[in-house]
Amino acid sequence: MTAKFLKVSCRDCSNESIIFSRASTTISCAVCGATLTNPAGGKAQLVGCNVVETLE
Ligand SMILES: [Zn+2]
Repeated sequence: MTAKFLKVSCRDCSNESIIFSRASTTISCAVCGATLTNPAGGKAQLVGCNVVETLE
């Protein structure tokens, strides 16, 4: 499995962030502080954002 970076948009404020698809920590929105991803089995689980684009 290839790890990728994802461009995501915060559901609360629409701020776009680049996150690692296998992030092992919780990532929060830099603007509003909403949780964007939680770590889940070596893979980031998106919880508060929508994927805009997958970056290879
Ligand atoms: Zn936000």
